[in-house]
Amino acid sequence: MCDDLSLKYVCSNCSSTFEKAFEFFYPPFKKSFSIGIYKDKFKDLVIKAKSDSIAMEEISKLVLRFLKDKKFDGFYLSCIPDDKFGRSHLDRIVSNISKEKRLPIYKFQKIRETKKQHLLYFRERSLNVEDCFKAELSPERVLLIDDVITSGATLRSAYKELTRSGSKIVYSLVFAVSPLFWENYKKSQRTNNFPVW
Ligand SMILES: [Zn+2]
Repeated sequence: MCDDLSLKYVCSNCSSTFEKAFEFFYPPFKKSFSIGIYKDKFKDLVIKAKSDSIAMEEISKLVLRFLKDKKFDGFYLSCIPDDKFGRSHLDRIVSNISKEKRLPIYKFQKIRETKKQHLLYFRERSLNVEDCFKAELSPERVLLIDDVITSGATLRSAYKELTRSGSKIVYSLVFAVSPLFWENYKKSQRTNNFPVW
């Protein structure tokens, strides 16, 4: 990933800059997990993973290490879909986790084109992804995977549709939280004042 000549895709210098994976409480999700913060070398890795399967495998390893001792009884794995067929650039990692953790996969659809969230102001993002997902008979418990939380609008829109179609308990797992999201999150924790959704 860097200029280091080690044979590993992520050298020990780079991986030493990665934050520890953590759990946090981000309503309406019952539990949320992030593998890192979206900055420095970890950000590079997450960006590379969008197009590079080796980078995605590296993230997959980090996710599985974090999930090793965690139990998800009765949960289905799902991820944010990219199209109306329910396909996603996260399918590969979802399949890895499914095998390792022995969790079935649940798929839903993205039924409407949206603009790229990172090109929009925060206040436009919720509207951009509103009602863009379609789920049917979704399972009661879902562990929902996405790559990065920035405004949280995409995950919340998916949450809304999943709970509308039957889910009762939804956890979210992301590779990274953006530094801005994390700052705002910590601020809201201190004041006990979660943003309103
Ligand atoms: Zn390196």
